[in-house]
Amino acid sequence: MAGAGDGDGRAVPVRGRVVLFPLPFQGHLSPMLQLAGALHARGVAATVLHTDYNAPDPAAHPEFAFVAVPSGAVSAALAAAPGDGIAKIMALNAAIEASGCARDALASVISGSAPPRPACLVIDAALPGAQKAAAELGLPTIVLHTGSAAAFRLFRSYAMLREKGYLPAKESELNRPIKEMPPLRVSDLFDPSKYFNEEMGNKILALSTETTTNSSGAVVNTFEALETPELQSVRDELGATIPVFAIGPLHKLSNNGDRSSLLEQDRSCIEWLDTKEPGSVLYVSFGSVVRVNQDDFTEVAWGLANSGRPFLWVVRPGLVAGSSGKPDLPDGFREAVEDRGKMVDWAPQAEVLAHHAVGGFWTHNGWNSTLESIFEGVLMLSRPSFGDQPVTARYVQETWRTGFLVEGKVERGKIEKAIRRLMEGEEAAEVKERADELKKQMLMCLEDGGSTQQAVDKLVDHILSL
Ligand code: UDP
Repeated sequence: MAGAGDGDGRAVPVRGRVVLFPLPFQGHLSPMLQLAGALHARGVAATVLHTDYNAPDPAAHPEFAFVAVPSGAVSAALAAAPGDGIAKIMALNAAIEASGCARDALASVISGSAPPRPACLVIDAALPGAQKAAAELGLPTIVLHTGSAAAFRLFRSYAMLREKGYLPAKESELNRPIKEMPPLRVSDLFDPSKYFNEEMGNKILALSTETTTNSSGAVVNTFEALETPELQSVRDELGATIPVFAIGPLHKLSNNGDRSSLLEQDRSCIEWLDTKEPGSVLYVSFGSVVRVNQDDFTEVAWGLANSGRPFLWVVRPGLVAGSSGKPDLPDGFREAVEDRGKMVDWAPQAEVLAHHAVGGFWTHNGWNSTLESIFEGVLMLSRPSFGDQPVTARYVQETWRTGFLVEGKVERGKIEKAIRRLMEGEEAAEVKERADELKKQMLMCLEDGGSTQQAVDKLVDHILSL
């Protein structure tokens, strides 16, 4: 009999089948493949649809079937859209719809699959184009929210935020608390009117709201104890017909994260970490998409150098805005830090955070990075850029109290002080206690019978009932 496998090499009888379509960015692709892994381990076979752009490596995931969505139109639209963010997401959706390529690929998967017929298409919450394709074929969809429940709730609340005058954000009110959604402030809100015209802004805000409303269920990469009121609030709003499954942290539920890395991970940093004292190293990474300007990059470099701390810094090609190449480090920087600082293009991040030498994480608070940090009980210095990152950073500082925000202009003196605050002294010890407590809660949700394990069981039952 065909087996779905349980991740340990044992075959599990196939109970069902799903098709998944991730958004082709690292922070979205990894959790989708992790979700596929969790379903597969419970006997649900997975076929992954993907674009040529940022395609996953099928050889790294022999347990799944992969089907490329064959469309020159999609590739061309993605290549032409600027940056790595919203413009590409909008272009991808438009091209999927216009070309019909997702519908064709999905139809061929449905007709070509061994029984049972795929029960649903699991889509990234920002892929309405794929949802429409599924609807045309009569296939239900489940949406995966790769961000927090707080971000999920926030993106559904823009009408209220406008009605109550929080948005468009006024310069004089940036510190105004959003009393309906503590601990958020106006400055934490993504304000589309700053970047886009009204029509485009509304389309962007509608992305995940519409896909969720048109779905048969929503999966969130979080866990019950971390975001209890936020999950309650989305459940209250969506009602029983769109159940919400909190099945995070996905990177621990199905440990295939490293295998979905789009960039090659430089493992020399693990050997370097082996030479450092426990808890002494600050790990610095701004994820796969954030770009910084040249001045900020220089200030970060000197802030790290002047802190006197050992640090491991992911200096990704393209990190500095305006160039896709390797950023040039400031003159004299390497000499100043010598072996105290290690720079890599891309790190095996989950393993780095798990290393005993790492005591702090300077992060942009991408949601995957945040969950990975919480899982390892690592304190965070938060420097968010856009989207849901400021929301997560605010929760880190105010709700979970496992780190500090670095706000305002990036200056070397400020950075140096913030690093000392995070890694030394009494305040740091208190933050560490809370981080260890949160880690315990995360471990509990992953145990047999824990909230996440129960949620995956319920999700599988739900999928099989569709
Ligand atoms: N990551 C990695 N190596 C690095 C930096 C990041 O493997 O050097 C991984 C990280 O573990 C996380 C993902 O890339 O799983 C980034 O996702 P996140 O949501 O944190 O941020 P995004 O890149 O989407 O802004």
